Amino acid sequence: MKHYDRSLAGHFDGILAWRESELRASLDTDNPKELAAEQPGNEVQDFKDLAERALQYGMAALDAERAATELSQVLAARCRLREGSFGQCAQCGKPIDLRRLEALPAAAFCLACQAAGEETPAAHHPTMRA
Ligand SMILES: [Zn+2]
Repeated sequence: MKHYDRSLAGHFDGILAWRESELRASLDTDNPKELAAEQPGNEVQDFKDLAERALQYGMAALDAERAATELSQVLAARCRLREGSFGQCAQCGKPIDLRRLEALPAAAFCLACQAAGEETPAAHHPTMRA
């Protein structure tokens, strides 16, 4: 089984940066610059307000929520990339299979832990609203 190592950091950062800009664009359909100005340097945050905003512009509720959740996962992954913990399961600490990372660069858990947890962990799970 192949695993992530530091030599792949640039490769994954490129993928994640691209995904981040895509998600930001889809969530903030009106004015991406405006949002960046609102929350300078605040990278890992709650994206519920972003999803709500996208809703106002006619984005489907499920799509908006999904995009907001993925964006927070992508940002968390970029954070782990900088910290050097990228590629390790956030649950059991074992290295995540490289093929899984290639398919899901923002994955925080190995396949076994993901399957055991079934859903995304509480921290990343979008809060259900009435
Ligand atoms: Zn694990």
